[in-house]
Amino acid sequence: MTRDPRYDILFEPIKIGPVTAPNRFYQVPHCNGMGRMFPDSMIDMRGMKAEGGWGIITTEQCDFHPTGDVQPFTETSMWDDGDVPYLSEMVNAVHEHGSLAGIELVHNGQGTGCLYSRETPIGPEHRPVSLHNHPIQARAMGLSDIRDYRRWHRKAALRARKAGFDIVVVYAGHDGTVPSHFLTRENNQRVDEYGGSLENRLRLFRELIEDTKESVGDTMAVVVRFAVDEMMGKDGLEWAGEGKEAVEMIAELPDMWDVNVSDWENDSMTSRFAPEGYQEDYIAFVKQVTSKPVSTVGRYTSPDTMVSAIRRGLVDLIGAARPSIADPFLPNKIKEGRPEDIRECIGCNICAAWNNLSAPSRCTQNPTMGEEWRKGWHPEKIAAKESESHILVVGAGPAGLEAAHSLGKRGYQVTLAEARSEPGGRITRESRLPGLAEWARVRDYRLGQIQGMTNVEMYLESEMTAEQILEFGADHVALATGAIWRSDGVGRANRFPVPGAGALTPDDIMDGKRPATPGSVVTVYDDDHYYMGSVVAELLAIEGYQVTLATSGSQIASWTEYTLEQGHIEARMVSAGVEILPRQQLSAMGEGWHELTNNLTGEANKRDGSVVSITARLPRDELFDALKGKIPVRRIGDCFGPSIIAAAVYEGHRYAREFDTKIDPDGVPFNRTRYQLQHG
Ligand code: ADP
Ligand code: SF4
Repeated sequence: MTRDPRYDILFEPIKIGPVTAPNRFYQVPHCNGMGRMFPDSMIDMRGMKAEGGWGIITTEQCDFHPTGDVQPFTETSMWDDGDVPYLSEMVNAVHEHGSLAGIELVHNGQGTGCLYSRETPIGPEHRPVSLHNHPIQARAMGLSDIRDYRRWHRKAALRARKAGFDIVVVYAGHDGTVPSHFLTRENNQRVDEYGGSLENRLRLFRELIEDTKESVGDTMAVVVRFAVDEMMGKDGLEWAGEGKEAVEMIAELPDMWDVNVSDWENDSMTSRFAPEGYQEDYIAFVKQVTSKPVSTVGRYTSPDTMVSAIRRGLVDLIGAARPSIADPFLPNKIKEGRPEDIRECIGCNICAAWNNLSAPSRCTQNPTMGEEWRKGWHPEKIAAKESESHILVVGAGPAGLEAAHSLGKRGYQVTLAEARSEPGGRITRESRLPGLAEWARVRDYRLGQIQGMTNVEMYLESEMTAEQILEFGADHVALATGAIWRSDGVGRANRFPVPGAGALTPDDIMDGKRPATPGSVVTVYDDDHYYMGSVVAELLAIEGYQVTLATSGSQIASWTEYTLEQGHIEARMVSAGVEILPRQQLSAMGEGWHELTNNLTGEANKRDGSVVSITARLPRDELFDALKGKIPVRRIGDCFGPSIIAAAVYEGHRYAREFDTKIDPDGVPFNRTRYQLQHG
């Protein structure tokens, strides 16, 4: 296939100081929950992106001193020469495909409690550390501490060169590093030459860039990663104020500017809260004040948007973390003239959540993320079929669609039967809820791929009974029939059904059912703690109901802390006029009334209004009971174990990968990093 010449610009080499990137695709530093704890996985994950065409691949944050220890997070670290080998392996994996390898040197300063190293954290001031509200304080750095700090940073840059890196990223962003803490007035009220004026507050960052240029700048590019706006008004840096002035003061110092907004919650916004390219307004000034190449992020997945950002003079490189996770081969797909094959990130932040839980990141769109080494899964290649089996997949939700797609890719004959008139299962239904439209990409990517496969047929409006499935005569059946929300209130808080009539559920809401009287009082009872409670509350509020969002937790949507959304969700509920009631348990319900009990005081409160209950789901697995023993049948996705969408996609993919192979049920189904004991 030939590439649209409009996209040629994306493949121009870019000179960055003493090195040249082969194209404009820059995989910015991103956490991935692998790092130093699961280095084998991290190395192959990075190498895969180089294979997929990203011109620059950087590490996640790399701590360079024990006083910046980020336990419990599993980032890379390089505290001494003993850490060089695994980082060199990553560099080799990247170089193998002709890409440049970058390392982001980070010290989290007052952000972290140094739980593993037990060192005393450091920062510009005596301040309690921010992460996890630990009862630990960072101590104010004296001038000799600053000298030590600069020396550690310089040594780290030299070590990075020893490891073979081409680029070193000096980082003041996300309110997460020592130079960023020095930079902001809220964190730095010092009265010495490192505090007070912007010039003074910027001094440490300037010195670090100068030190790095001086120590390795002859052979390595020095990139700065910088937040131009802290999104906190006058209390922080603003792009139109000190953010811009700071860039102007050191505009020509680095070899490249990688700019964004702060903190991480604002930088990595989900699609529910920000569209593609949402940082452009903030960073637009940067190219006007520097002659050096500029990059930003903004969940760019469309080559047209990328080209437009370059042509409009906003950036020279397209920075990406999540789009590179969802599709490590995004650049190559554009290069080869098949952008329609891009698996576009949906902006759900499940990748971030797993990292925040100190587990290897997974991705809703890309089931092979994190499995490149563990399972040897390649995002674009899959083994050819090993038999002439014909497989019937029942249910075209994320699990069924992914199974059909990947089985089809292997060459098997696949029939996909879906009861509804449209494919996509929960994806189609949920993507119509407020803010979740981009989630439909999970369906659309797979439908697009299946469309070109003559060996995969899909039938809609085909609700299958056990008899029909047996009659159909497939060799194997995959049941991907999903799950349904419970209406009896059973979940985490209520272990027994709540007395009274059943509540409305998210399934009812998505089917168009509503409380009897338009505009009436409705309580959305959320014992699920993820997104569903707040999107249903938002929908009903938009439709004019008087909505209360009651939760058994101490705050609403508590799990969305991991997806970086909790604060955004709470703010949206407030602006939508939704009343928030924490620490409530649904204790009784009837027609037009319900009772909530405070789970601290035990006080029961009978209230008027209907209730939508969001607690737990039950698998739709009746077909399995009717078929097992009669035909080879397996349940996949929510039909087997209700979970997040990423899990359904993964299970569908796994089914296809494992088809016709023998799996030892007693074995560990993936490779594990083994640690070498040092004692004895
Ligand atoms: P998952 O997340 O596991 O993919 P979903 O709930 O999204 O699950 O999708 C399940 C799909 O299966 C839905 O689209 C549903 O309409 C379909 N389905 C359920 N039962 C049957 C059946 N008996 N025959 C065909 N399709 C079915
Ligand atoms: Fe994008 Fe979601 Fe995948 Fe992260 S998990 S890369 S946000 S699709």
